[in-house]
Amino acid sequence: MKEWEKNIRKIDPYVPGEQPHNANMIKLNTNENPYPPSPGVLHALENFDVNVLRLYPDDKSKVLVDTLAEYYHVNSDQIFVGVGSDEVLGFAFLTFFNSVKPIVFSDITYSFYKVWAKLYKIPYTLAPLDEDFRMKKEDFYEENGGVIIANPNAPTGICENLEFIEDILLHNQDVVVIVDEAYIDFGGKSALELIDRYENLLVVRTFSKSRSLAGMRIGFCMGNARLIQAMNDVKYSFNSYTMNQVSIVVGAQSVRDEAYFRENVAKIIAQRTETENALRMMGFTCLPSATNFIFAKHNKKSGKELLQKLREKNIYVRNFPDNERIKEYLRITIGSKEQMDVVLKELKQIVME
Ligand SMILES: *Cc1c(COP(=O)(O)O)cnc(C)c1O
Repeated sequence: MKEWEKNIRKIDPYVPGEQPHNANMIKLNTNENPYPPSPGVLHALENFDVNVLRLYPDDKSKVLVDTLAEYYHVNSDQIFVGVGSDEVLGFAFLTFFNSVKPIVFSDITYSFYKVWAKLYKIPYTLAPLDEDFRMKKEDFYEENGGVIIANPNAPTGICENLEFIEDILLHNQDVVVIVDEAYIDFGGKSALELIDRYENLLVVRTFSKSRSLAGMRIGFCMGNARLIQAMNDVKYSFNSYTMNQVSIVVGAQSVRDEAYFRENVAKIIAQRTETENALRMMGFTCLPSATNFIFAKHNKKSGKELLQKLREKNIYVRNFPDNERIKEYLRITIGSKEQMDVVLKELKQIVME
């Protein structure tokens, strides 16, 4: 090893779902939304004045922050926006998890948490999900350096109720508790209503799934103004201009288009129910989903085989072969009705072979 190589940061990076570009593929592997962004977003893009790109964006992203504040009935100083919730979460880890005590998160959850912990050298302990893939609240009672929970959880899709979240808050009043609500718009109850009572609660959201804007990279979080101030201090020590001009305008417009948003989410929820029923008829076990994906395993066919056979049909889903407990499961994003009809038809064929 060369001398200079010894000082290189070594880290096993997060591996995002594949982004293939095959013609006519059905892409259900990264929980993107099958429907386009709102017509208002299209209009905002068409009318975007390219000349403003000469200028740096508003470092406070005021238009977007104020629109979100009004929508969620919080103050603007209770909102932080970032380049996808991944960036928001990355800043939150850097800002809040500085104890020598380990932070706690589930053994089966969004795999990026472990990567940030390693990147920032934050010690962590894993709380094992029970046999039904539920979190055990007692695992979060021990002294720790902070808590991060995905609710609904990924890749299981299971959502815990607010009593569960509040119980964890009651037992963790001396550390910051982050609740990653990437999928909350698909049916779960948000912890947002708790932020006024728990000054250590940070609720993280994204535009990537329910708002059909994964490609725009917009995420945000809400919490006590003191938490948001601390995150801004870190952000301004890293990059003052995380949000570009286009995403500020487009994000705000998406929030204003409430009727379209509701309709979009309702379609996906209805399609999810239909898909779950069809999968169960074919011998799949589906975990109860409050998200835009289904986590399912078949009673005969292995996860690996199903993934492979679907891929041969140009259908992409995700599985997690390196994790013993979930390696037989497929995580199938809910696509449009037309897409799901094709997927179900192909799956029916595959499981009968
Ligand atoms: C998709 C996802 C994210 C990241 O979303 P972006 O806003 O696109 O960065 C964060 N947490 C969970 C649990 C997710 O599933």
